[in-house]
Amino acid sequence: MQRYVRERRIAELAVERACKLTSIVSGSQQTGSVSKSDHSPVTVADFGAQAVIIGALQTVFAEDPVVGEEDSSILRKDDGLREQVWKLVREASHLDTYQTEIGQVESEEKMLNYIDWGQFEGGKVKRMWALDPVDGTKGFLRGGQFAVCLALIVDSQVVVGVIGCPNLLVDPADESSGKGVIFSAVAGEGAFSRPLASPIDSAVQISMSSVTDTTAASFCESVEAGHSSHGQQAEIARLLGITKPSVRMDSQAKYASIARGDGDIYLRLPVSATYEEKIWDHASGNLLVAEAGGIVTDMYGNPLDFSQGRTLKKNKGIVAASKATQPKVLEAVQKVLQES
Ligand code: AMP
Ligand code: MG
Repeated sequence: MQRYVRERRIAELAVERACKLTSIVSGSQQTGSVSKSDHSPVTVADFGAQAVIIGALQTVFAEDPVVGEEDSSILRKDDGLREQVWKLVREASHLDTYQTEIGQVESEEKMLNYIDWGQFEGGKVKRMWALDPVDGTKGFLRGGQFAVCLALIVDSQVVVGVIGCPNLLVDPADESSGKGVIFSAVAGEGAFSRPLASPIDSAVQISMSSVTDTTAASFCESVEAGHSSHGQQAEIARLLGITKPSVRMDSQAKYASIARGDGDIYLRLPVSATYEEKIWDHASGNLLVAEAGGIVTDMYGNPLDFSQGRTLKKNKGIVAASKATQPKVLEAVQKVLQES
């Protein structure tokens, strides 16, 4: 029997709606970008996407807590920005026919409350969702890759993962194949993808590449040198005999890309000893890669522990690759860590 059928469907509809919302913003050139207290950028798309996704979850799974990246404090202080987000949320909710299934955000006040429903502290709970409404905001702002990511975590295990990538080519080998792909996975049931504009039941199963010789592999990493150590990652690639240049892209599109075999390895070694990775940056991608036949661990080989609150406190770094190559990659990672 298939598990989490309803959760997966609702998550896909909600992510699709949020992806449409991000397209309105990219089309308008008005990103409404402001700086958060940690100096990272946030746009009207981040707030709007969080509102429509949590609105959908609250309509169907009213009891479920959500660990989401954004909160409404900036919007409550800035009337202009709030109105911009509200207009966007209303517009996006009318671009689909999902109102009977996932409702729509009824008022500005509800929109703010939905955004703040994402402030759950996480931890060891029966059920919670992890949401990154626009992962890779910097990529979104530069017209590059970004991803709308939603995952259901049950008893600290990711059981449903959905990633919408509006700027990813449907077929990476064909520039004319169109952009916009949605990925989904349920634990134990494989990973799937389909073009964003296609119906849910058209999704096809995806799998990691079958490369076993790391010298033939390619690896991907963040665009931002401040998010992972490009220097150490280049050294690891050298040890593995990788000759292809790294593929740099923002967001969990990296997990999605290796899950469908576009690349082989995703490396994320910390640049800061104190930074704690956020659960919403890894929950969906972690499941997608596992279900596509890969392994995701931290840089010491430990599984990611989603029971520690809003961050992956017990983990450092990310090493994702196929079952055949991941142990070899981890070995190279240990060598580079010992040298540093
Ligand atoms: P990426 O697109 O791979 O560069 O990852 C984007 C994510 O990096 C954002 O969603 C942030 O949560 C996260 N981030 C911000 N600062 C850091 C940091 N110092 N180290 C690692 N990740 C970070
Ligand atoms: Mg993010």
